[in-house]
Amino acid sequence: MSDKKQHPLNRVQKEVVEEIKGLHKKREALNILAVQRFFPGLLRKAYSIKPFWGWKRALEAAGLNYSKIRVELEPYCECKICGFLGKNLVSHLVRKHETHPREYRTTYPGADLFSEELRARMSEWLRDRFPPSRPHWEPLWSPGYVLDRAAWLAETGTNLNTKAVVEIDTSLWVYGVYYFKGWDNVLRKIGLNPRKVRLIDVKKHLSPEEVVRQLKARQRLGIPLNTRAVGLDDLRLLNAMRRRFGSHDAASERVLARCRCSQHAVLSLLKFKSAGNCAFPSITAV
Ligand SMILES: [Zn+2]
Repeated sequence: MSDKKQHPLNRVQKEVVEEIKGLHKKREALNILAVQRFFPGLLRKAYSIKPFWGWKRALEAAGLNYSKIRVELEPYCECKICGFLGKNLVSHLVRKHETHPREYRTTYPGADLFSEELRARMSEWLRDRFPPSRPHWEPLWSPGYVLDRAAWLAETGTNLNTKAVVEIDTSLWVYGVYYFKGWDNVLRKIGLNPRKVRLIDVKKHLSPEEVVRQLKARQRLGIPLNTRAVGLDDLRLLNAMRRRFGSHDAASERVLARCRCSQHAVLSLLKFKSAGNCAFPSITAV
């Protein structure tokens, strides 16, 4: 899985490793979201190490992996308006605050509508139904998991330019853009030069299917499809939308209609009939 080279750990890495061992001994949960919640300083320390190290490698340096650690997810999420705790806030928002989930997320960017536990169940279902080409180790996406996963792919020799990542791991690319405001920033965080990574295949045009796939992925996560937003994230995609579909509007309209249908199918299956067609991160994470 990884061609581990035995570099001696530096002082900060040793501190992180010792802390991890101590927490594991006390049976503390060590998945990224749990550590973020209870030991944010430790996580920050692991991700601040240069060259990029991250949480996955920190666990491995402590002699652990995801089969050995305890994973803990929040059973409830909190309504940012009134503090109510629920597994699913959609009906609460509509009934109690007469607010559509989309408006709520506009007012409170990044706020969750579903608890971590529930989102993990949804992700598990989707991952079973649409097996990813690369295995997952974290139950849910997070900024740290995006970086760990990108670094791991790079370590396995995978090309990390946008086209390649969208093909093999669309969700990784979408969450990277969502959390870090652009794929180039993910590459920089893990110590890669975006200009060098981008050079590969730069002259190839996106096919209509690739355009639709990338737009659907953005729509699922609530990342804007307007001209400016797409152009800022990926000029090649914007050009391909125009070239393949005649105009930016024609391409985005087609994708919006399809995404509304697929989201509805997922929600119905999970019996969240009141959820409507809102867009929110992580529900469609595969
Ligand atoms: Zn509330």
